[in-house]
Formats: sequence, C-alpha cells, structure tokens
Amino acid sequence: MRTFRYLDNVAILTLAREKCIGCGNCEMVCPHRVFKVTGGKADIKDPDGCMECGACARNCPVDAIYVNPDDGCGCAIYILNSWLGKITGKRSSDCGC
Ligand code: SF4
Ligand code: SF4
Repeated sequence: MRTFRYLDNVAILTLAREKCIGCGNCEMVCPHRVFKVTGGKADIKDPDGCMECGACARNCPVDAIYVNPDDGCGCAIYILNSWLGKITGKRSSDCGC
C-alpha cells in the first residue's frame, strides 16, 4: 500500500530468509503488502510500508520474521505510542488492549 505511508526508516522488521519455507502467511496477513513470496521464499519488498503491527511475525510458522514490537497487538494506539516513544525517547506502548 504505497498511498498510505508512515515514517521512513523507522520500522524494525527483519526476515531470516534462510528459515523461510514459503508458506505465504506473511504476504497474506500484511495489511500493507510489505512481503512478496516468489520461488518459495519471502522478500521484504516495501520496508517503509510496515506499521509494526506484528501480524506477520505472529503468523510465521518458522519464526523467520522479527518485528519490533514483536508482541504488538496491532491496534492504532499501540502503534502510535510505540512510534512516539521512539521519537521522544520515552517508551510507552501501553494501549489498554
Ligand atoms: S508488522 Fe504488520 S505491517 Fe509490518 S510487515 Fe508485518 S504484517 Fe506488515
Ligand atoms: S510466513 Fe514465514 S515461512 Fe511463511 S512465507 Fe513468510 S517468512 Fe516465509
């Protein structure tokens, strides 16, 4: 999703491609189409599209994906508080969920 962007170069998202078994879960669950699976392996195609919701990491059967916060619940308050914490240095990602 290239029309709805967040902040550039802030998302902490990594993929251990050697672990990937190509199941396609990350591509399916990501709301911003960050991943693309080709040839049996996933690739991060749009890292700045990541909003750190954690859905991909939660649904990867081989723990090939790391995203911070990797325990994110995905709600908007959690994500915004996480980003504000990065910007201000005051960590507060509580959302009440
Ligand atoms: S954390 Fe969410 S937005 Fe980021 S790549 Fe994973 S599913 Fe997509
Ligand atoms: S969910 Fe994990 S194993 Fe499945 S395609 Fe994505 S990275 Fe690969």
